[in-house]
Amino acid sequence: MRRLFEITAGLGIAWAAARATQPSSAALAAPEPLAAIAPTTIPAPVGAAYDDDAAMTGHPEAVAGYTLRASLDPAKHTLHGEGRILWKNASRAAVSELWVHLYLNGFKNDKTLFQRVPVDGFRGTDSVTGFGHITVKRFAVREMEGQDLWPGADKTSPGDPDDETDIRVPLPRAVEPGASITVDVAWDEQLPALTFRTGFLDGFHFVGQWFPKIARLEPDGHFTHFAFHHLSEFYSDFGAYDVTIDTPDTMVVGATGRLEGEVRTSGRIERRYVQEDVHDFAFTAWDGFRELTGKSDDGKVALRCLYPAGHERSAEIEMETVRFGLGYFGKAYGRYPYETLTMVHPPEGATEAGGMEYPTLITTGGAWYEPFTGAHTVDTVTIHELGHEWFYGLVATDEHAFPFLDEGLNSYAEADSMEARFPGSSAVKWGSTEVSLWAIGRPGSIERAPNAPVAQPSPSFATGGDYGSLVYQRTASILGTLANVYGEATVRRAIGRYTRRYRFEHPGPAELLGVFDEVVGHEAAETLRAALFDRASVDYLVASFESELSEAPRGIFGDPAHPSPTPAAAPGPWSGDVLLRRRGALRFPVDVELHEEDGTIQRVRWEARAPAERLPYTGKSRLVAVVIDPEHRILLDENLGNNAKRDGKSTLGGAVLERALYGAEAALWGLQP
Ligand SMILES: [Zn+2]
Repeated sequence: MRRLFEITAGLGIAWAAARATQPSSAALAAPEPLAAIAPTTIPAPVGAAYDDDAAMTGHPEAVAGYTLRASLDPAKHTLHGEGRILWKNASRAAVSELWVHLYLNGFKNDKTLFQRVPVDGFRGTDSVTGFGHITVKRFAVREMEGQDLWPGADKTSPGDPDDETDIRVPLPRAVEPGASITVDVAWDEQLPALTFRTGFLDGFHFVGQWFPKIARLEPDGHFTHFAFHHLSEFYSDFGAYDVTIDTPDTMVVGATGRLEGEVRTSGRIERRYVQEDVHDFAFTAWDGFRELTGKSDDGKVALRCLYPAGHERSAEIEMETVRFGLGYFGKAYGRYPYETLTMVHPPEGATEAGGMEYPTLITTGGAWYEPFTGAHTVDTVTIHELGHEWFYGLVATDEHAFPFLDEGLNSYAEADSMEARFPGSSAVKWGSTEVSLWAIGRPGSIERAPNAPVAQPSPSFATGGDYGSLVYQRTASILGTLANVYGEATVRRAIGRYTRRYRFEHPGPAELLGVFDEVVGHEAAETLRAALFDRASVDYLVASFESELSEAPRGIFGDPAHPSPTPAAAPGPWSGDVLLRRRGALRFPVDVELHEEDGTIQRVRWEARAPAERLPYTGKSRLVAVVIDPEHRILLDENLGNNAKRDGKSTLGGAVLERALYGAEAALWGLQP
């Protein structure tokens, strides 16, 4: 399976893999014929109209709307849910089955797909301490005589008798294109002890992936559905959510959307939250939350931070970060269209609920003392999760098939915005030691690059470590390098054109590459494609250099009977050459510094079109050192240790090479959230 990706890397194959609908990684590797998918890989030109918000669409097509009621028993950690799903067949084909995700069953026992996959370098725990599950009690389509269809549904995920997260429900009659149905649903669930993203810790509850959710239907009429995998996130259609949450009246609740009303009855409280134009809904309930509220800088977004006592400074930082981020991301990627944004800082011990994104609700995290360490960990996790409101929330890519389109682009947005806020010290500021997020992401991005392509489905990554380093860090390093080489504003504009044009849509890699081709140029787009799909890499190095005092050429010039004057010595009076190499398939133009003995530094541009090139040298004194890419613009450069060379007589020290600093940055790699 892996071998297939290694030898056939490219957009078409990965796109085909993305369309596979089976849960196992072996099935994911089976591509459809290239000819069948080629037309979908050529996006229409986007155009400069999408460089600002005017052309941006205001609303998505409403496909899947959920009006639900959830009653939580925080003592037993159980939830009863009921309500109705309004679903529209927005495809071109009649549909005679629905696919329903029951994510909570991923925590049902040790044999589910979610539990079978080892954590192996990514977040999460290998064993659940209290199992969770969901049981559907009713699934009745009003337009089909109101018959409960659940007894006729498959019992397990396709091809996986141990998994119950990806369920096919045959319909008695087809739903024609453009037609809508209303499904009455009811279910019971037991929340797991807090594990990856969801569950309870004592009285704290975080309720995500908690209701029967219809898989996304593609325009050609096939559902993109998949069993819940440890490394995979989600993919859904847009719609309106109207959710009433019923809890004991001691509970503080935070949820997706705006609070539309509260009804108190003996000892309980019902809160109704409504949000249009989103594709998921999550909530939290705990009687221990403190609350900090505020407004975005433009006054349009009500901000609310829920946090445990003792985390007051973190809450302030999260509020400041979100204010900054709504402005920064809004300008770069299109305005935030919702009226609320809720931050949830889980209590100590509940870190598994932290660092996650849902529409209009993000979870942060960190120990109480982290704001006082000089490391921007709280800011970083906050800005990262906020960035997801664009990269998955508003641009709803398939997180299972192409996780780099959300986590990768968002990691770039995270580092770019943190650098704008804390130039040079976006990760850490310890006295005079400053470290950027770009430097932090470098080592993993490079070390893991040969292991797998960045652009592949989540379950195709062999380990959580590969997934984290390639999807998050390498994508960010690729985009950061393109920004350093072709201009930060240009790359930001390309991504902004992509996020505005495809707001409330479900683009794939072809749409991203198309916009890079338009905005940054064909060469940059091809570099991006090769870096994402082909495991392409680059290492710049100074192979050798020499210079010598120019002497007048010797010999006979012109007619030997009447020799011409001897030509003058080359200007300089020192001359020589420098042999530079570019190893690997990626190519970026780079700057090269030529250090002369008298202290003069010449700077030349090397286009690096050939894998090796001799640059001529002329100077007033001896050439004593050569440095490629002195500002480390090429974040993907495999080995910075060979970027500089000096001769034995040079007094130039490590400051020129900055290797010591990068070593320190590498050591700090583990600090990131
Ligand atoms: Zn993320």
